Amino acid sequence: MSEHSVFAFSASPRWISCAGSMAYAENTEEGVDGGVYADEGTAAHALAAACLKFKVPAANSIGVTIEAGKRRFEVTEEFADHVQTYVNDVQRRAIGGYLMIEQRVTLEGVEGFDETNYGTSDAIIALPGYGVVEDLKFGMGEKVYAWEPAKDNSPFAFFNHEESSEVVPNYQLMMYALACLADIRLLIDDPKYILIVINQPRLGHISELRVPIAVLERFAVFAADALSKSMLAMGLGAKAVEAKAEHYLNPGEKQCRWCRALARCPAASAKVQKELSADFDTIETDLPAVAVDPKRLAKAMAAVPFVSDWCRAVMAKANELVAAGTAIIGPDGKPYKFVEGKLGDRKWADEKAAEAALTGVLGDNAYQPKKILTASGAAKVLDKKKTAETWKDVFAPLIKRAAGKPMLVMGSDPRAPFSPAAESDEFEELSE
Ligand code: SF4
Repeated sequence: MSEHSVFAFSASPRWISCAGSMAYAENTEEGVDGGVYADEGTAAHALAAACLKFKVPAANSIGVTIEAGKRRFEVTEEFADHVQTYVNDVQRRAIGGYLMIEQRVTLEGVEGFDETNYGTSDAIIALPGYGVVEDLKFGMGEKVYAWEPAKDNSPFAFFNHEESSEVVPNYQLMMYALACLADIRLLIDDPKYILIVINQPRLGHISELRVPIAVLERFAVFAADALSKSMLAMGLGAKAVEAKAEHYLNPGEKQCRWCRALARCPAASAKVQKELSADFDTIETDLPAVAVDPKRLAKAMAAVPFVSDWCRAVMAKANELVAAGTAIIGPDGKPYKFVEGKLGDRKWADEKAAEAALTGVLGDNAYQPKKILTASGAAKVLDKKKTAETWKDVFAPLIKRAAGKPMLVMGSDPRAPFSPAAESDEFEELSE
């Protein structure tokens, strides 16, 4: 989904949770280059919308170049396959209903919002009794969920009967659901709920949640309150907001992750200092101790993603400022500077001349022995639509993989626990 509203729906997980983030210009300025992945997502959305509108397969566009942002993307077979996965899902859900593609929706008419609160929804479907809002996320990074389990301090949650537990819905999808409600009501009588769907075809991941209309209406009041506080913060500016940090700034993993002010936000760095139990003024000489008590260690583990995001943001900001000529004084009392990093791989500058010289000295030994393609190299060539069956029947059984190393994750992770015993059992079976 895409939009250019200042209070963008896509940024709502940040400004709903931290009103003060809107006081920082870097979060409100337009035309910021979102990077190659954002542009690739835009290209995928354009292709998906065309396929749904004109009812043509994505494969028809293989070889076509799509311009998105500052970049151009060629539609490869793989790209088209993933777009088609999303297109198929939308078409399947839309059977017997009304489908709206890339529809501009606005919150005008919802109390507390106006026409400046708008967005463009990837797919809206009105079906007898309910509506669907489906969001295509084309990235290959982490999985995004339509909901997460509620915590004690979750400001907005509701009881979900399918999960038999309190859940916190994805705020971005809730904003779209709220904004498309008027359109859905024009097409069907008395919808009972909106199904919010996140589709990540490159990760083979779909997450969905039924949101009753009454919950959506309660969310409208909650989001309107957050909007008015954010607008106030934007009007006040960063200095005033920082002076009342406890009221406006609310650091947390979700909201700070995509905040462009993370590196300079005093509330975020205070949270990092608190999590590390360390003061930045003394951290050089007084490294924070790692907790050994399981309870304290569990608390520290929960803070790791937030602290890592903050470290990355600090490094990126320092690089940006030094590149722009700003002096940042390091602990040695001197300004940070750039030096040449690790050299790139050695390559022949003139391959022909090198070949002539090498064969002169080494004869046939100047050439590498013929080597079979690696399994992943072969998969790149053969794991495609035309040869997928051969790949599956002939080549996939010829591949072996070393067992994965144990990885520490949270207990709620859906994967089975790592068991070295099970691994050795399997090994025995293979030997037999
Ligand atoms: S870094 Fe976090 S706490 Fe600071 S403004 Fe951004 S979202 Fe708010």
